Amino acid sequence: MKFSEFEYKRPDYEEVKAKMEDLIARLEKADNKDSFMEVFWEIEKVTEEVELMGTLSSVRHSINTKDEFYSTENDYWDEYGPNYQVFSSKVAKICVECPFKEELYDVIPEVYFKMAEFEIKAFDEKVVPLLQKENVLASEYGKLKASAQIEVDGVTYNLSTISKLTNDKDRETRKKGWDGRLKFYQDHEAEFDRIYDDLVKVRDQIAHELGYKNFTELGYIRMYRLDYNEEMVANYRRQILEDITPVVAELEERKARRLGLDKVRYYDKAFNFSTGNPTPKGTYEELIEAARKMYHEMSPETGEFIDTMINGELWDLKSRDGKEMGGYCTSIPIYKVPFIFANFNGTSGDVDVLTHEAGHAFQYYMSRNIPVAATQWPTMESAEIHSMSMEFNAWPWMNLFFKEDEQKYKFYHLSDALSFLPYGVLVDHFQHEVYNHPQWTPEERKQCWHELESMYKPYEDFEGAPILEKGCWWYAQGHIFESPFYYIDYTLAQVCALQFWSRNYHHDPNSWRDYLHLCSLGGTLSFTGLVREAGLKNPFEDGCIKDVVKDAREYLDSVDDTKL
Ligand SMILES: [Zn+2]
Repeated sequence: MKFSEFEYKRPDYEEVKAKMEDLIARLEKADNKDSFMEVFWEIEKVTEEVELMGTLSSVRHSINTKDEFYSTENDYWDEYGPNYQVFSSKVAKICVECPFKEELYDVIPEVYFKMAEFEIKAFDEKVVPLLQKENVLASEYGKLKASAQIEVDGVTYNLSTISKLTNDKDRETRKKGWDGRLKFYQDHEAEFDRIYDDLVKVRDQIAHELGYKNFTELGYIRMYRLDYNEEMVANYRRQILEDITPVVAELEERKARRLGLDKVRYYDKAFNFSTGNPTPKGTYEELIEAARKMYHEMSPETGEFIDTMINGELWDLKSRDGKEMGGYCTSIPIYKVPFIFANFNGTSGDVDVLTHEAGHAFQYYMSRNIPVAATQWPTMESAEIHSMSMEFNAWPWMNLFFKEDEQKYKFYHLSDALSFLPYGVLVDHFQHEVYNHPQWTPEERKQCWHELESMYKPYEDFEGAPILEKGCWWYAQGHIFESPFYYIDYTLAQVCALQFWSRNYHHDPNSWRDYLHLCSLGGTLSFTGLVREAGLKNPFEDGCIKDVVKDAREYLDSVDDTKL
């Protein structure tokens, strides 16, 4: 069955409500495992039917925002989504308070109860007005960025299209692009400061109302940090600083030599090779065919997966007028298939869709039969392990996509994976400082960013860019405004993905088996549990980062990048 054939029908809220209220009342009264589970599965069924419709509507709206039918449906879900949400919160609460919950762990994974507990801890009706205020501020940030009109040489760009200039081979063009981008942030400095200041204050207030000492504590609960805490994260960041920052500094020096520059400056950030960045070769059809071939050669499971994607038309990858920006991977309940949304643009990012987003999709495909739907997808930091590792598992087939640029792509991919780590922990560290000092002024926050940035990324050169020298680059990082504390996740997953890279590099015969096992576990365990099951080292443990970087460094040193 094809995605376009999946039938959409708007649920009748009153009907669902009556059914759910009845089921919830029965669940509350259930006094033994069997009767509890009988009702629980019925609730799952109703929930999945509602979720199917919500997902179909949102996906179809995103692929064609001009479609009037789904535009109306999208408005319906914006309005009614939270009403449907109420039922799952009630179910979660009953599960957490169930006196015989331990007996249920063999059918409902324990992690489900822990997450439900966190959900309850993060919410109280009395903070609803504050949560609404937080949402309004976060959307204000999005709107401010979307309003950017950057004029360069008579052409108008936005924050996304300006990358045409900032990645250009010509250094003067790059500088113009960067200066245009930075001017936007400089011109709106007061607005960014005001929005963030209000966000910090309202989040701090929510935390206090809910009884926490500060928002950091609540942030960990909101992000479902089930098995690690602030101290462990601080120790992890320290390892990145000690073991990765010096390696990235070396890579930056190599880049300067490779590009024939005295120093890599702010406007050289996204530019890596004098011959241009690696790009995929071939038409759209050829890239899809390459993906099909790759996944068939990789394993029987991935072969079956890619056929399902292709035959079911379970993706929309081409850029088109009227389509939403960006990319995502989601899952379609009942039909139990993933869906990938992307906007191909001719850069190496297109191949990332076929490896990274497909990695997410493959994980879901492998865990689609886990009975409790809420435990099919893992928490954020774990979810990125599957996708980032798939990017590395796909290495033996990169010649199919990049042809003569294969080596260039691999060098870029691996060095980029390392370079990201100090930045990622900087974003995390900054937010800890901000929320642990809610009384700070915007100037104090900028000073803090500046100091942390000089520590984690001492190789950055901001001369001639006052907004960067001042410590304002975080204005560009949406997560800081929109999803507080959601960032360390990418670095933790990257450290795990690099371990799979290393194991592949050493031709470890169990590497693929462990990856498959990890995918099939879905979200039935917490982060450290999944890491252990996949035979990976725990990133929080001392020495892990040192080991992870060793092989990557050896590989990068073996490449003569001046020839790329
Ligand atoms: Zn991802």
